[in-house]
Amino acid sequence: MRHDISFSHQLILQQAEKRLRITVDNEVAAKLSVNDQLFLHDQQDEYRVIKATVSAINILPEGSEIVLSNPDDNYYVDGHMHLEYGDLSVEYALKFIEEGIRKGLDEVDILDHTHRFQEFRDCYEHLRVFPQQDQWLNGPGKFRSSLAEYDRLIEEIRKMRLPIRVRFGLEVCYSEDTEEMLRGILAEKHYDFLTGAVHSIDHRLYDMSFSDELLWSQFDGNDIYCSYYHSVMACVKSGLFDRLAHPDTIKVANIYPSYDLSDTYQKLCQALKDNNVMAENNTGCHYRYGHPDIGLSDQLLAAFRQNNVRIITASDAHRPEHVGSYIKEATERGKL
Ligand SMILES: [Zn+2]
Ligand SMILES: [Zn+2]
Repeated sequence: MRHDISFSHQLILQQAEKRLRITVDNEVAAKLSVNDQLFLHDQQDEYRVIKATVSAINILPEGSEIVLSNPDDNYYVDGHMHLEYGDLSVEYALKFIEEGIRKGLDEVDILDHTHRFQEFRDCYEHLRVFPQQDQWLNGPGKFRSSLAEYDRLIEEIRKMRLPIRVRFGLEVCYSEDTEEMLRGILAEKHYDFLTGAVHSIDHRLYDMSFSDELLWSQFDGNDIYCSYYHSVMACVKSGLFDRLAHPDTIKVANIYPSYDLSDTYQKLCQALKDNNVMAENNTGCHYRYGHPDIGLSDQLLAAFRQNNVRIITASDAHRPEHVGSYIKEATERGKL
């Protein structure tokens, strides 16, 4: 059986030891058995984890001593996958969860775009100024579910005893124009996490089949990058989000600015840290759009690491078989 518990930062730092002894409340110990898998999540950073096998439990009056063997600090998380092409049913969600187990992941995080949910319809009105985007927003998948349906799914999955941690959130399409509207809707919701994403620049989506016509052929690359990072900074500073989705996905069109992005990246690192927002290392750009980077660019990944920005790996899977795509590679890259 698997158990996830929050544990002391100091202990997590001593992870080099081959064999660990920890003390836990007898209440916690009562739930453990020898050979169970224990996941110790750092109290200061839940994605810094030691996983280990319970090899002995010694019940003592002042707290139980647990002996752990085979400690491993590789925590494989896929922090971003969509149920977008299916319904909000337990059966469909389990296909993603089972694929995560099959790929040897420790956690899968399910989210859907806010454009699935009717509650967010008004937040997309600003994109309808262009007929291509209006048509896209009138498509069959958009605004077809309610957050109440999503809440029911979450409740059902949480009742199940699964060998993998499953968390639920939303990928929120952020724009400065709709920030207050989003704040109002999100204030009443309590998901495990909220991921902020910038998908449009000056009301134009940048990663669609029509984006060439609406955006890339209309504006200078430098201006597009400036506007994109301006919105990304506002997204991080809004205080609405726990995570920033695919921070450098603007590279999807393979157009690059002629100016150096180092300054922009330094400011982004500072904003992420000041606002306690994790940055995704999202591999979707690689296998969904054919970009050579497996996740973040070397330059941005290095900036995040030098500045101790917390990073979460993510596949952006839209189909069950894509869960975990390049997650182990991205995890390794994040350590180099
Ligand atoms: Zn996205
Ligand atoms: Zn996504």
